[in-house]
Amino acid sequence: MQNLWNDTDAAAYTGELNLRVYTSRLLGRNPDLVLHGGGNTSVKLRERNLFGEEEELLYVKGSGWNLETIETAGFAPVRMAHLLKLAELPELSDIQMARELRVGLTNPAAPDPSVEAILHALLPYPFVDHTHADAIVTLTNTPDGEARIRAVFGQRVVIIPYVMPGFKLAKVCAELFSKHATAQTVGMVLTSHGLFTFGAAAKESYDRMIELVTEAEEYLKRRVTARPAAEAVASTAGNLLSLEDRNGLAKLRREVSQAAKFPVILSTHADEQALSFARHPRVKEISQQGPATPDHVIRTKRLPMLGRDVAAYVEAYGAYFVRHAGNYSPPLTQLDPAPRVILDEDLGLITVGRTATEAAIAEDIYRHTIKIILQAEALGGWRALSEADIFEVEYWDLEQAKLKRAGAPKMFAGEVALVTGAASGIGKACAESLLARGAAVVGVDVNPAITETFKRADFYGVVADLGSAAQIGVALAQAVHKYGGLDMLILNAGIFPASRRIAELSDAEWARTLHINTDANLTLLREAHPLLKLAPRGGRVAVIASKNVPAPGPGAAAYSASKAALTQLARVAALEWGADNVRVNILHPDAVFDTGLWTDEVLQARAAHYKLSVQEYKTKNILRAEVKSRDVAELAAELCGPLFAKTTGAQIPVDGGNDRVI
Ligand code: ZN
Repeated sequence: MQNLWNDTDAAAYTGELNLRVYTSRLLGRNPDLVLHGGGNTSVKLRERNLFGEEEELLYVKGSGWNLETIETAGFAPVRMAHLLKLAELPELSDIQMARELRVGLTNPAAPDPSVEAILHALLPYPFVDHTHADAIVTLTNTPDGEARIRAVFGQRVVIIPYVMPGFKLAKVCAELFSKHATAQTVGMVLTSHGLFTFGAAAKESYDRMIELVTEAEEYLKRRVTARPAAEAVASTAGNLLSLEDRNGLAKLRREVSQAAKFPVILSTHADEQALSFARHPRVKEISQQGPATPDHVIRTKRLPMLGRDVAAYVEAYGAYFVRHAGNYSPPLTQLDPAPRVILDEDLGLITVGRTATEAAIAEDIYRHTIKIILQAEALGGWRALSEADIFEVEYWDLEQAKLKRAGAPKMFAGEVALVTGAASGIGKACAESLLARGAAVVGVDVNPAITETFKRADFYGVVADLGSAAQIGVALAQAVHKYGGLDMLILNAGIFPASRRIAELSDAEWARTLHINTDANLTLLREAHPLLKLAPRGGRVAVIASKNVPAPGPGAAAYSASKAALTQLARVAALEWGADNVRVNILHPDAVFDTGLWTDEVLQARAAHYKLSVQEYKTKNILRAEVKSRDVAELAAELCGPLFAKTTGAQIPVDGGNDRVI
């Protein structure tokens, strides 16, 4: 493991708290140490309060902060005297502890101190670092884990048997630490959980973390030589889903969503690591034991689902809840029983989340889990914590509180929208409006810039020419591969040929306009129909047509006819697909000038043609309103939402009012 400390960089961080920020970020940068909010760090400082009294404070990582991006504001200052007094109590419930940690803060605006704050306070060193290092968890999650830790570290670490994180763990650590720590002690290994190191300076504590983890990694490297027994599998990540797999995956997503009682994103990974684990000859045993470290349970659930039998998974989850919930009072409420990780022989690793980001976090965690399981297996046997221990963390008040803090889900959370022509103009605005409402969006455009239009986990840009039926198929396959299905389709892409009277209109121009504006949408609708039918909350189609449908203009025969044909196509789709719970509605925008089509010169020329100023030209409608891409996009998104749940086949103008349309 590389030590990332750099004297020049570190010099920019003056003072102990800033150095605490610096080395915390170094830890956070290595996913083999901490993943997605895991791990915590602290520093003990003496400060003068408002009354001029000096107090010792523990600056400890606040919950909700990631080590990789933490700032000084991410450290909660808690009075040491209060923490040490709490540690003297014989018992303290989790809820009381969370409350008391806030009571001890010197800054009421600080985040909630980490649940390990008391443990940090009890370790008699200025700097304390804690990670869930893969190599340490691998060693301890084997039948003779403790002996292996001893063999690697000798007397340099104190070993703590597994105890649920929180007050009890702090007490046990304090007791065993004072009993076993010697002058040589530089760390503390928490079985099935992780590693603590400490030191007088930020660098010392960080260096020790890297040294100890490196030694564990080297021990593993020496013993885990051959690749674990798994068939070598060629990656199929670059391959496209077959039509059968595409619909099969959308069906699986519908079933998982029904189990969860809300729509979910399914993200498929068919690379070598994913496929070879899903096809591992002993996958049934090794994948069905539990997570590598208990707090992963919140992201991955205790067990992945093998294959596609959602009903059996749900039943087993219910039985697991019943087996353990009886020991708790007040009574617990069962969490949704849907899997978060699926191992499928054909498709590989599929991760599930209420958002694309959640599915990506589950993927990251499970990839580390696969590595840990296979290495522990090669060492002599993978052994996860007991079902009861994992349940305790899954249903821990404080973990439940973390989930609740996330707040109510957005309107389209867990849903997938495909927008054509999404690299610019109305299409890009539609993507923005859908993303803002929580949807994962697949943007399709012939412009290669689409892959960079939005850089976020819930947007995927596909370069495709909608004039090609084959490329439409590719775009749909990629959407399903990335997010699991399709709930909403925004038909926006189209061409607007130069003004030409019928007398001058060529067959080729007519045919090309109808091909892109009408035929391509027929292909897309037909190909998307099986997916829309499987949408957990019903499919929705929003068609961006044109004012030219109800009120055509001279010189726009091909455009007006193509959009009129598209409108008629959409109306028939509304008739045919209602029984499948797919709604189809149509917008007729007019005079949307903030798109690529309308450069300043074109606008000035058109305005001059009508003897108007540009502003008068832009607002020559009944309301004297300027219609923007965003106005159209917001309405398109709302057409897909609950407000229009009982509307299909509607045609709505977005034109500021037009006397020929009204
Ligand atoms: Zn921990």
